[in-house]
Amino acid sequence: MNITNFFDIDKSLLEFDKKALDAAESRFKKIDDVTEYCQLKVLSAFIENNVSEAAMSGSTGYGYDDRGRDTLDKVMAKCMGAEDALVRHSFASGTHTLSVALFGVLRPNDKVICLTGRPYDTITGVFGIDSKTDGSLADFGVEYSQVELLNDGTPNIEGIKSALSGNRYKMAYIQRSRGYSLRPSLTVDMIEKIIKAVREVSPDVIVMVDNCYGEFVEKKEPCDVGADLVAGSLIKNPGGGIAPTGGYIAGRHDLIEKCAARMTCAGVGREIGATLGHSRELYLGLFSAPHVVGEALKTAVYAAALFEMLGFEVTPASDENRGDIIQCVTLKTAEGLIAFCQGMQSGAPVDSFVVPEPWDMPGYTDPVIMAAGAFTLGASIELSADGPLREPYAAWMQGGLNFHSARAGVLLAANQMMKNGAIKF
Ligand SMILES: *Cc1c(COP(=O)(O)O)cnc(C)c1O
Repeated sequence: MNITNFFDIDKSLLEFDKKALDAAESRFKKIDDVTEYCQLKVLSAFIENNVSEAAMSGSTGYGYDDRGRDTLDKVMAKCMGAEDALVRHSFASGTHTLSVALFGVLRPNDKVICLTGRPYDTITGVFGIDSKTDGSLADFGVEYSQVELLNDGTPNIEGIKSALSGNRYKMAYIQRSRGYSLRPSLTVDMIEKIIKAVREVSPDVIVMVDNCYGEFVEKKEPCDVGADLVAGSLIKNPGGGIAPTGGYIAGRHDLIEKCAARMTCAGVGREIGATLGHSRELYLGLFSAPHVVGEALKTAVYAAALFEMLGFEVTPASDENRGDIIQCVTLKTAEGLIAFCQGMQSGAPVDSFVVPEPWDMPGYTDPVIMAAGAFTLGASIELSADGPLREPYAAWMQGGLNFHSARAGVLLAANQMMKNGAIKF
């Protein structure tokens, strides 16, 4: 490997690196197959919608008649297997995007049920699960409940059926990614199974999927298997590492219109919204996304293989099917977790000289450490890792704009652990 020309990596670690690559090879082939499929899907969506150079030019003020914006919506709809979509740089985060979709569709006294246990942390505030947070759905009279996952972290299909029978719910909500939990992510096959179960007992319920971290990981997307609405963040998979901010919602046309009314205001909806100078980045990012997601997946598989060989527990395992780009590596000790993050940071293209330290992040009970040296603040499609300083000292890592550099980042993380005595032979 060429890495020793540029970085000082322990020789014994390089042997593990080679073995990890060998072990990952057959997975890499499968990833390439999906990447190619998704890349051609995106390319044909661009061609079908006659994307032109003029589409990139952008608008100011109200943004009336911004053809580039409207065309990007159509391209994204096609990529997500949906009738319609909204793609906007003005969505401030994934949570904001999901929130617009939820408020767009739900009305006071509606009931929403989450089918995949407790949702991602920031969404709990949107639903108002723990308290009627100001401006939450609960604050507006939308009632929340959830079906717990089974002990192995998989969806409880029978439990979902019995909870939904009788058509009491307006919306059933599914989270595709594991987020920062230890449960497995959902494959699209599993999402299809859940939706089939839902439709058996409650044909009219709106099925919404939090698609964060899942886009382009598989050939199919949730709307291809019957989801009514999906949403996600552009500083994750579908922004391809190029979109500087933003989010998207895709799904049934009637529901997208409702979301548009919430996104700006009733009566105007999607007709306004200046794209400023951002259209080109959103187009280019979406076009690059399948490839970048493939690189992130290779990074995750490689890291899993390497740390398995080094004697650590990882989830998912290197040879397991994946529904998202997240990799969890259990590092056993606080020193190990800190060294892992510091080593990974030292291999980042931006802020490599920063030495991350654990800190008391608002809203968390234990100190958290993070490695993030990214071009876009908080972009988790770029190589990054974080974890709370508590048992089992797990790092959740994700991203990698290209495998060659991300592999170095992962090796530097392991190397720093060796230096600190957190890996011994
Ligand atoms: C990232 C993520 C979100 C949205 O998070 P933001 O930080 O607001 O972009 C929502 N759900 C899941 C599962 C996520 O991974």
